[in-house]
Amino acid sequence: MHLLCASCILGVMALSLRAPRPVAAEAELRSISSLVLSKRVAQALAAIDQLGSWITEQQILLTEIPAPTFQESARGEAIRKLFASAGLRTRTDSAGNVIGERPGASRKDAILIAAHLDTVFPPGTPIKVRRDGRRLTGPGISDNGAGLATLVCLARALHTAKVHTEFTLLFAANSCEEGEGNLRGMRKLIETFRDRLRAVIAVDGAATDHITTMALASRRLEVALTGAGGHSWADFGMPNPVHALARGISKFLTTRVPDTPRTTFNVGVMQAGTSVNTICGRAVAKVDLRSESEAELDRLEAALRKSVEAGVAEEMGAAAEAGHSSDPRIEVGFRSLGERPGGELPADAPLLEAIRQADRHLNNQSRLERSSTDANIPLSLGIPAIAVGGGGRSGGAHSPCEWYDPTGRELGVKRILLTTLSLAGVEP
Ligand SMILES: [Zn+2]
Repeated sequence: MHLLCASCILGVMALSLRAPRPVAAEAELRSISSLVLSKRVAQALAAIDQLGSWITEQQILLTEIPAPTFQESARGEAIRKLFASAGLRTRTDSAGNVIGERPGASRKDAILIAAHLDTVFPPGTPIKVRRDGRRLTGPGISDNGAGLATLVCLARALHTAKVHTEFTLLFAANSCEEGEGNLRGMRKLIETFRDRLRAVIAVDGAATDHITTMALASRRLEVALTGAGGHSWADFGMPNPVHALARGISKFLTTRVPDTPRTTFNVGVMQAGTSVNTICGRAVAKVDLRSESEAELDRLEAALRKSVEAGVAEEMGAAAEAGHSSDPRIEVGFRSLGERPGGELPADAPLLEAIRQADRHLNNQSRLERSSTDANIPLSLGIPAIAVGGGGRSGGAHSPCEWYDPTGRELGVKRILLTTLSLAGVEP
């Protein structure tokens, strides 16, 4: 099984590609078999092999700096120093993205290689990476410690080997990929560099057995029901937002969704109440809707809204029967927590051909996948983009027992290096 973060995992499946979307300007492809004849490229590949234990140390250090979504700055500063030591021109933008620029012969053409900084773990989560032989265990060690380590390793290998590229390379440790971050970091990067970008590679987790070329669309909604509240005994029968929410959500759960286009939903959070003997004033649910089709997402969102309204109507009916017909109606509020647009990389995109060539060269097997990642944003705008793992093995993403084993990391890093260079071009 692929080992992307859960926000990525949930909707992953292989599908055929739809008709390509026209793209303004794209990179011309250099063959990887000729690229590897360059002495400097060979030196960069050798450097990746030599950086193994050093990069694992950096991965542990980075992982142990907490980086909940919206609070990534300390980890960002650590990676900014690593970027600078690899010869990159660094800066941090207003979204908290740490950008390391490696100018090529052309400043106007650029390839963006990004890995998200944030983790799903809330502030205060103890993060101490435990070693057991080659296996490292700790929250975020793979998602996205592995992605960040790969970025640093790539930059350092190119620096050591003094590889000069035709296109500019932009390395970015971006903010807000997870949870309610709503891809804020990647949105900002695309806004800043949109006209220059010839390709985007998002590095997420470890696995090298997939290429995410299809962006899964999703919507996240918060439902909040508000009532007057009261005493469980004295006010029995008055409209209760918890009861109304429970009624509404159980109706929603009976919604039928198609297998094709694959469509899913999840009630991830329900919060309400102050004490056991109180009719509470407010009940909240957070719901994640995903589909391969925007039309199905519309239908699913409509079903959620209708179910919640029906739940409230049922609760008001029950209250009226209990003699509370004059109580104010429970108020219903919906709020968007995020929306990820869909999109697809055309089947004939040079970026896809580049990574397939890299896979052939490295003898790596991979399949195309649909998933929800930072690549959603460029893909939705017709900018060629993929999401891939950084190399190595991993498991338990988004759980405290998340683990990573660097065995095979070199393959993942070389795969991205060769893909990048075949698009960016190498100066003699
Ligand atoms: Zn991730």
